[in-house]
Amino acid sequence: MSDCLFCRIVAGEIPARKVYEDERLFAFEDIKPGAPTHILIVPKRHLAGLAEAADGDAALLGELQLRAAALAQARGLHGGYRTVVNVGPDAGQSVFHLHLHLLGGRPLAWPPG
Ligand code: AMP
Ligand code: ZN
Repeated sequence: MSDCLFCRIVAGEIPARKVYEDERLFAFEDIKPGAPTHILIVPKRHLAGLAEAADGDAALLGELQLRAAALAQARGLHGGYRTVVNVGPDAGQSVFHLHLHLLGGRPLAWPPG
């Protein structure tokens, strides 16, 4: 989608600090990090959010989580980390291209705000 921020980052039209890429996924540093590690992992294919995901997206959703675990391992987040998908206005979703947040490098309070 040409008017989607994360599609444009995936396409290289908007610069981002890429940390990982494969056939289906793209990961980059969040522009406004909420923790020492704050990475966004997105599917290359446009999908507005978790609420729009279908049964056929199950493998892709799993890949997002497993890539977060691999990146956390690579970053040495041995004390723990959090993966988050914000869904809809109550959760503060601000970009409507599915993305998994990987947060770590500091103690993370629970429940989140
Ligand atoms: P959410 O609020 O869950 O939709 O998360 C959207 C995230 O995208 C926020 O954490 C923003 O800081 C981040 N963000 C917005 N624009 C950019 C950008 N150009 N590059 C990297 N991260 C961005
Ligand atoms: Zn998109």
